[in-house]
Amino acid sequence: MSKIIPSSSLGGKTTANARVGVLGLQGDFAEHLSTLRRIGADAIDVRRPEQLDDIDALIIPGGESTTIGKLAARYEIIPKLRERVREGMPVWGTCAGAIFLAKDVPGHPHPLAAVMDIAVERNAFGRQVDSFEADLDVKGMSGEPYHAVFIRAPKITKAAKDVETLATLDDGSVVAARQGKLLATSFHPELTRDDRFHRLFLSLGKR
Ligand code: GLN
Repeated sequence: MSKIIPSSSLGGKTTANARVGVLGLQGDFAEHLSTLRRIGADAIDVRRPEQLDDIDALIIPGGESTTIGKLAARYEIIPKLRERVREGMPVWGTCAGAIFLAKDVPGHPHPLAAVMDIAVERNAFGRQVDSFEADLDVKGMSGEPYHAVFIRAPKITKAAKDVETLATLDDGSVVAARQGKLLATSFHPELTRDDRFHRLFLSLGKR
């Protein structure tokens, strides 16, 4: 990617010194950590509630939302995470992470953070299209369409008034949304080389 993207800042810090946590209980947290490090953020793997006090933003990775929910409850991450969200910490969930953030997930068997006013349907694209890729026009993102990878992806089916849709598929399915400093994407920006979504997330801290 040859485009020059202006460096973003987070809570007065530049991307280079913002400390960004990635919930490392299950899923593809390592890929998020390496993307963050590549763009100059100080990225740490978060597994204990007290680590949430040491970060400026948090990413919940893709993986399996039932497992992430179960482990987050077991390690007592959820109350502290809710407190940090109330304090305005930016949090981004990708795929299973988006499910973890949603307040309304029909039939989900395990505890979730439930901090974002969206409803999501798990595995919403059916068996035949377990995985697919799509080029998205993303609100607020310049340059060519964003090439997104979907793996047993959820769909955002309902959202409160203050939730902004950032991207939809051609059939109108909402696959990226923002509510204040909370970001949810159905797809996996950590699995591609395009780091524009990570930069967009880091820029939320200064708005
Ligand atoms: N289908 C998974 C779930 O419900 C999410 C898949 C993913 O993160 N790639 O948790």
